[in-house]
Amino acid sequence: MFPELEHIDQNWLQRFRRNVRTWYSKHGRNLPWRQSHDPYLVWISEIMLQQTTVVAVVPYYERFLKRFPTVAELAAADEQEVLRYWEGLGYYSRARNIHKTARLIVNDNQGQFPDDEELLAKLPGIGRYTAGAIASFAFDRKAPIVEANTLRLYCRLLGYRGDPRSTAGQRLLWAFAELILTRQSPGRFNQSLMDLGATVCQPTEPACPECPVRNCCQAFANSEQTVIPMAAKKPKITQLTDVAIAIDKDGEFLLLKCRDGERWAGLWDFPRFTIDETVRKASLSRLTENTKRRLETQLHDATGIKAIIVDRLTEIRHTVTRYRIRLVCLQAEFQSQSRNPSAEYAWIAPGKIEDYPLSTTGRQLAELLKAPVTLEKGNG
Ligand code: SF4
Repeated sequence: MFPELEHIDQNWLQRFRRNVRTWYSKHGRNLPWRQSHDPYLVWISEIMLQQTTVVAVVPYYERFLKRFPTVAELAAADEQEVLRYWEGLGYYSRARNIHKTARLIVNDNQGQFPDDEELLAKLPGIGRYTAGAIASFAFDRKAPIVEANTLRLYCRLLGYRGDPRSTAGQRLLWAFAELILTRQSPGRFNQSLMDLGATVCQPTEPACPECPVRNCCQAFANSEQTVIPMAAKKPKITQLTDVAIAIDKDGEFLLLKCRDGERWAGLWDFPRFTIDETVRKASLSRLTENTKRRLETQLHDATGIKAIIVDRLTEIRHTVTRYRIRLVCLQAEFQSQSRNPSAEYAWIAPGKIEDYPLSTTGRQLAELLKAPVTLEKGNG
C-alpha cells in the first residue's frame, strides 16, 4: 500500500466518481474519434495524439481515415504512402509502427484487435497507456490509464511532490489510476479524467474554482497547484547548422531515402548535412567562394556527386527533439557522378516530389522549387 493513498476510502471514492461523472456529462469534449468504439479508430487517434495536440491531430485523423478506413486497407498499403499521409505530424516511427501493427493484426489475428491490454502492449508502438486506452475505450475493459493530462491531475489530487516519471512515481500513479477506475463504463470514466486534466487541471493555470473534484484535491488544499507536478528535466539544447542542397540535373532534383537510424527514417530528403565548424564560422548568409567549395566537397564526399553551388534559396529555423537547427537551403548545378549515393536515391521533377514523403523542411524546400523561384541573389 502507498502512504499517499491511505486517506482514500469508499466515501472519498464515491464522492470523487460522482463529481467526475456529473461534470463529464456536461463538459466532456466532443472529439471525432469518440463517435465510435471501433478499436482501429481508437488506436489511430491515440497514436496520433502522442506528442501532438488535439487541434493539430483532427485534420490528419480525418484525412488518414478517409484513405485508410479499415485496418485491412492500412495493412495493404505501401509504407511510403502511409508516411505520406503522416507527413507533418512528426515522430515518424509512429507511422512505421502502425503500419507494422496493422499487418500483424491482419496476417496473424484475422484482422481482429486483441481486447486485452497485455496482448495489446505487445504490438509495435503500443505502450501501457495506449493499450489501456484501446482496451477501455473500445472494449470497456477495466484498464487504467496514465498519460500527460491524467499524470498532472493525479499528482495534484494526491499532492505528490516526487518525480512522477520515476519508477516510484509511476507505480503510485498507476495504482491510483486503478483504484479510482469504475467497474461500470470504465472507458467513459477514463475519458472523463483525461478531459478534466486537459480542460480544467491545466499545466500552468488550473481552473480550481471551477473544478468538480477540488474537495478531493491535496494540492488545492495546500495551495501547491503551481509546484505540482515536479517539472521534467529540460533536455540540453544543441544548436546545429545544416545545409540542404537541391541539385538540379536537367530540371530534376536528387532525393535520398533516409535509412533506419537516421533522423527521418523511411522519408525522402534532399542531400542534407550538418556543416563543420570552419564553414559555420564563415557566415552562410553571404556565401563566399571558399565556403561554396568546402560545401561542394562535403556534398561530393556524402553522395559521390560533383555539383556547383549557384544560389542560396532560403533559410529555415526548426526544432527536432533537443536540436535547434538553422537550415540553409542551396541550389546547385549537377556536373558529374563518381559513384552512386549509398542510400536509395532518385532524380525527380519538382511537380512529382509531392508523391514522396518528406520532412516538413524538405517539403518547404520542394515547394520552393515548384514555385516560380525568386532567388536570394547576390550571395557571392
Ligand atoms: Fe487540478 Fe485545481 Fe482541480 Fe486540484 S482543484 S484537480 S489542482 S484543477
